[in-house]
Amino acid sequence: MSIKLQNVSKSFGEVTAVTRVSFSVEEGELLALLGPSGGGKTTVLRMIAGLETPTEGDVFIRGNRVNDLSVQKRNIGFVFQNYALFKNMSVFKNIAFGLTIKKWRTSEIQTRVLELMELFGLDGLEKRYPHQLSGGQRQRVAIARALAPKPTVLLLDEPFGAVDARIRQDLREWLVRLHHDLKVTTIFVTHDQEEAMEVSNRIVIFSRGHLEQIGTPREVYEQPANEFVARFIGVMNVLELEVLRGIARFGELEFPAPEIADGLKVRIGFRPYAVQVSGDPDEFRYRATLRHTFFLGIMLRLELELPSGLTLRARMTKEEYAQRGLEDGVHVSFQIRNYKVLSGGKSQLHHESGAQTEPPPAIAEGI
Ligand code: ATP
Repeated sequence: MSIKLQNVSKSFGEVTAVTRVSFSVEEGELLALLGPSGGGKTTVLRMIAGLETPTEGDVFIRGNRVNDLSVQKRNIGFVFQNYALFKNMSVFKNIAFGLTIKKWRTSEIQTRVLELMELFGLDGLEKRYPHQLSGGQRQRVAIARALAPKPTVLLLDEPFGAVDARIRQDLREWLVRLHHDLKVTTIFVTHDQEEAMEVSNRIVIFSRGHLEQIGTPREVYEQPANEFVARFIGVMNVLELEVLRGIARFGELEFPAPEIADGLKVRIGFRPYAVQVSGDPDEFRYRATLRHTFFLGIMLRLELELPSGLTLRARMTKEEYAQRGLEDGVHVSFQIRNYKVLSGGKSQLHHESGAQTEPPPAIAEGI
């Protein structure tokens, strides 16, 4: 195991930034720390780097407790969002910086820097200064500089936060390839769930200093531990319904809830892809008007307005959209193929295929 945090907390005076967080990172893993701003991600990263000391708990690197070990002795490479390159140094010198400090021999520095420049697609840029580089190139130089001294762990804090969307996408793909080639244990902070899903092997989700869930992108998406995770990872339709005679109702929508007492409220969530929409207004049980279609590349997001005024979001491919004869303004019918009880009822029931704890409810089957 490469890194382990055990019941780690950090307070800054009155502010508790991190509360009893425990997780481990396997050797060679690419792990994302994901959560809204102020959740404690940077503080966790800084404690691993040795830039902050935990108020409580322990940090281990390769089995050794490092709470009292200085930054320099931890053999960690890091790239922080605001950790700019040295403006007055060439690309070569920037990448060589850590090696010069460690007093590597000139010939070894030369070999290592050129090797990294080739690997990072920076050949020919060694004499340039940071202001003569594009945003994407600058980030790659920053990561090359962090990796030059062969660290045990690479820590990246929102490394692509400052570059525009298209370059950000290129850098993500590049980071995945780089990690695949080098296999350096990497922890990556982001508040962008898509970035975390696309880049990492596992995701640790933080909110307000607490670890909400740790799992693969698929696990946190398909089996969110709680409503916070469900809403933070991807889009989810969430309804609060009142139960009457074993049925939870919201306007025209009904969900069987045989075990829940009358008058209680349940919260139900379902992903846009679980909403099946037809251009034939009689095909499915529920009716709606297709208000807006948002084009998100090959996927489309649809906003359905129900007669009660409720808006639901659905998702499908362009092909499905065309096949089903859909366009803005048409009357459609829909069904909800699967959903989760988020709170209120029997906790965390999964009415998703393969994860049922009860017979699938009629609504999820053949409406
Ligand atoms: P962001 O995505 O905005 O960087 P984050 O999830 O990384 O957020 P942190 O930067 O770790 O969150 O901050 C967690 C909490 O700790 C915040 O409330 C922040 O204001 C507080 N905090 C962080 N560093 C300090 C500090 N040096 N002194 C006081 N409070 C701090």
